[in-house]
Formats: sequence, C-alpha cells, structure tokens
Amino acid sequence: PTGNDLLQNPMLNKGTAFSCAERESLGLIGLLPAHVSTMDDQVSRVMEGVRRNNTALGKYIAMMALFDRNRALFYRVVTDHLQELMPVIYTPTVGQACKQFSHIYRKGRGLYLSAVHKGRIAELLRNWSYEDVRMVVVTDGERILGLGDLGVDGMGIPVGKLSLYTACAGIHPTYCLPVTIDVGTNNDELLRDPLYLGMRQPRIRGAEYDELIEEFVLAVQEVFPRAVIQFEDFANCNAFRLLKTYQNRVCCFNDDIQGTASVALAGIYAALRLTGSTLTEQTFLFLGAGEAGTGTGSLLVAALMAEGLSEEQARQRCWFVDSKGLVVKNRKELAIHKRPFAHDYPQQTDLLRAVRSLKPTALIGVSGQGQAFNHAVMAEMASLNKRPIIFALSNPTSNSECTAEQAYAATGGRAIFASGSPFAPVALDKRILVPGQGNNVYIFPAIGLAAMATGAERITDEMFLAAARALAAQVTDADLAQSSVYPPLTKIREVSASIAVAVAELVYERGLARTKRPADLLNYIYTWMYQPAYPDYV
Ligand code: NAP
Ligand code: MN
Repeated sequence: PTGNDLLQNPMLNKGTAFSCAERESLGLIGLLPAHVSTMDDQVSRVMEGVRRNNTALGKYIAMMALFDRNRALFYRVVTDHLQELMPVIYTPTVGQACKQFSHIYRKGRGLYLSAVHKGRIAELLRNWSYEDVRMVVVTDGERILGLGDLGVDGMGIPVGKLSLYTACAGIHPTYCLPVTIDVGTNNDELLRDPLYLGMRQPRIRGAEYDELIEEFVLAVQEVFPRAVIQFEDFANCNAFRLLKTYQNRVCCFNDDIQGTASVALAGIYAALRLTGSTLTEQTFLFLGAGEAGTGTGSLLVAALMAEGLSEEQARQRCWFVDSKGLVVKNRKELAIHKRPFAHDYPQQTDLLRAVRSLKPTALIGVSGQGQAFNHAVMAEMASLNKRPIIFALSNPTSNSECTAEQAYAATGGRAIFASGSPFAPVALDKRILVPGQGNNVYIFPAIGLAAMATGAERITDEMFLAAARALAAQVTDADLAQSSVYPPLTKIREVSASIAVAVAELVYERGLARTKRPADLLNYIYTWMYQPAYPDYV
C-alpha cells in the first residue's frame, strides 16, 4: 500500500504518530506535519476537540469522525475516558444520533440489507471489508431504545453496540459487523423526510419478512461460520419469535430480552446484600411487560427455582403492569409472552394502586415511559420497605422512569437505585450516593467474548444466569456503601473478562464448545482481548 492508502485506512492509520522511519519507508514524507506525536498526545488532541463541542451530538459526530479515520486511536480514547465518552457513543447520545441519523450521515459503517436484495444476502455479506467476522449485531430498526420505529436510522445502535464489544471486552474491531435489515418503516415523519436514507415503504410483515430473516441467518452461517448473531432492538412482534426460532439452531441471543434480564438480575443479587434478605423473599413489580420486562421475569423465575421454589411459586413473585394496567388472568387477548405472568387477581390500571396492593420489594421500570415513577409511587415503595429496590432501566435518559435524584429524594435516600442511562452522583444529607448503571453493556460484550473464545455452538439462558452471578460478584462492599449495585464502568474490561470466564466455563461443561478447554481460562480469555495500540510498520 502507498502512504496515502495507509492514511485513508482506519485499521492501519496512525496519523501524526507515524514515526520518521515509517514516514521514510512508506512514502509518507510531506503528507504529515513534521512533529511526530505519541499516542498520548493524540488522545489529548482528540479530547480537546471533543470537549470543544458544546452539544452532545457534536461530541458524537467528532468521535465517529475519529472512528472513521483511526480505529486504534478511537478505542484508545474511549478506553482512557470511558466514563466521559460512554454517554457520547452509547446511551443517551446514541439515541439522539439515531433520531438524526439521515441528517448527520457521513459513512455507512455497516451493512444495509433489504428486501430488494432477497436471494442475494450471502453475496452482500461478502461485500463487507473483512473476511473473518465473529460478532454480528443486527436490527431492523423497529424499536430503537425507547424511541420506537426509526427504520434504517437505527443503524447507530448496532454500530454503537459493536464499538462497546471492542471497548469493553476487547473484541477485535475487524471481527465486528453491524447490520441493518431495511424492511421499510411505519414512521410517517421519516417517510416524509426528504433526507431519510431507508426504503420509503411501510414495513414488510409475515412470510416475506420471515424468509428474509431466514436467508440472512443462513447466509451468516455460510459466509461467517464462526459468527455470533445478536438480535437488537426488534419490536415485540418479531423479537420473541425470532429468538425462539433461532436460539436452538444457531449461536445467537437477543440482547433486549436476555442481556437486559442478566444485568437486572445481577443488580438484584447485589441489592440483596444491602437489604439483607433473600431472593425468595422478594416481590417484583415491573412497569413494562415487553422484551426487557418479561425477559427479566423469565430469568428471575429460573433464579428463584434454583433456590428451591416451584415454577408456579416463582412466577407468583413476578408481577407486571403494561400500557393497559396490571397483567392478570381475566384480561382478554394478552400477548403470548405475558401469559405465563398473568395471575388470578383483580385488574388494576393504576401503578400506585398496584404498588399498594401487591407491596413489592422491587419496582423495575422497563416501559420506555419517562417519569412514569412519580413521587407518590416511590414514597409508597419507601413506606413499604426499609431499602426499596427501584430500577429505572428505560433508555435514553429522557425515557427513564425517574431520575436518580427523584428516587433518592422520594425515599429519603433509602432507595437502591439503578438506571439504564447514566446519572451523576447525588449528594443527600452529607452522603454521596452513586447510582449504578443497570445497562446490558455489562453483559453482552462478555457473552460475545465467551462465545467467541470457546467457539460456542449455542448461547443458553443458563449462561445469562451465570453471567448475572458473575457480574454481581464483581460488586464490592465499597460500591455497595455508596448504594451502587454495579461495579464502576472504569473496571469494565476486567469485569467483562471475569464474566466471560464464568460463561465460558459453562460452555465447556455443557459440551457446547468447539475448542478444547485451556488450563488457565482467565489467561486464555485475555489472549482474545484486543488492545488499542499501533503496530510498528518498519
Ligand atoms: P418493549 O418490548 O416495546 O416493551 C415496552 C413495554 O412497556 C410494553 O409492555 C408496553 O406495554 C409497556 N408500556 C408502554 N407504555 C406504558 C405505560 N404508559 N405504562 C405501563 N407500561 C407501558 O420494549 P423493551 O425492549 O422491553 O424496552 C423497554 C425499555 O427498556 C426501552 O426504553 C429500552 O430502552 C429499555 N431497555 C433498557 C436496557 C438496559 O440495558 N437498561 C436494555 C433493553 C431495553 P404494552 O405491552 O401494553 O404495549
Ligand atoms: Mn436494545
């Protein structure tokens, strides 16, 4: 390659960090200013530029421009400033970026497959820049965060998730493939927007849709036989079905159903160390009975059964309120994923009343409805429990059921609070309370890492249970003392490695691995983790 090729290729580019010897031998002389930067200098320069933007979206655009030109530096910057940059490249800003996707578009950054390519999906996969793909994150854009149908504009999510696979679990950037399956959109605003980049037609449903997904899954098996498929941000009507269809056929998972469940359960396990009670003593009330809600309910049932409850007893501990009120038996036409959690109980439409009558120990928000936990609801939780567990897991921040400050204020600081999007620490009565971020970023990168390192044939629900336990074990007494039920994000790489070990252990135990179990599993997992650094070209 010529010097110019190196500068244009984000996987090879070092920018001003090309050494004098490299510049001489690679034909780069004159293409760069004289001074050779260290990577640390470059990190400082990037951070200065990012911080100069006074809007979050501006920072996102600056970071993605770096992603496009120098991938090693992008990951070095993200790793060094994770706390500051995670909200920029992921929730909440990624939500804003998706809403503006067609307006701030600069580069594809992934594969766009659509119904017009039916019969040619494998060919399109071969158009991708890298041959050895191990991790595919795919969406059809119908339920992006809590923002609804964003069509092809949802591509920001697979791109963002995969950048976290690399930043948080060290999956090599060239192993990562973001995919959007464009089947149209039912979002009228997008259909009317002259700059909208997706197909301008209503969503395809039924057999045509299913055949396209089937072709996609088979094509991934054919072209990238070692790849894990993560289904991301599909709407209810497809998410549960697709998981059921594929989880026993290929190595795949649904992050909204299974990843969220695992991170929520981990937070609950950690919270029990603060309440001093057992899992079987809890009553869970969920606001939201969709993928995240019933996914978490199902994993909780498995966790409760592991502690000796019958399935029936375990389900009795999990209650749901959806957009029509409490999920109960006598409701007509309940969606299939809600039925196992519909109890024999009078219907109630009001969350406060449901809290009063069910007396939950934990209230979990996965409704996508901002401010749905009002003061009265949380004050009721505080009168029922010494340490009420209140998780507001909906994303982005604007969709969070309450803020950290509101939860602590309504409960006199007694709430064990966690949220899907980050909130700053809150000072209350001379104490500093640090809300944990109950986000599946603690889970999916580690699951991918474990599956990749072991060559897992399948990803099972049991693995998400193991991941939850391993994550909870990473929460220290010092974290708990600040009321935080998740480890700090700054430790995410070591946390991911230890979760990956626990999951990998299970892959080997269940005979689902395509590699031989190494003697030192932790060390083996670390050998799979990419470190953002420059190679020496001479
Ligand atoms: P989903 O499958 O569409 O489910 C949303 C649920 O909320 C549905 O059951 C819906 O009721 C219910 N709902 C809507 N409006 C409501 C209202 N006013 N009162 C009560 N319930 C209401 O979505 P999802 O995948 O579960 O995601 C939900 C939220 O969780 C999103 O904001 C998403 O960003 C967030 N999430 C967070 C994480 C994390 O890591 N923290 C991970 C995944 C998802 P119906 O069933 O009656 O329509
Ligand atoms: Mn999601």
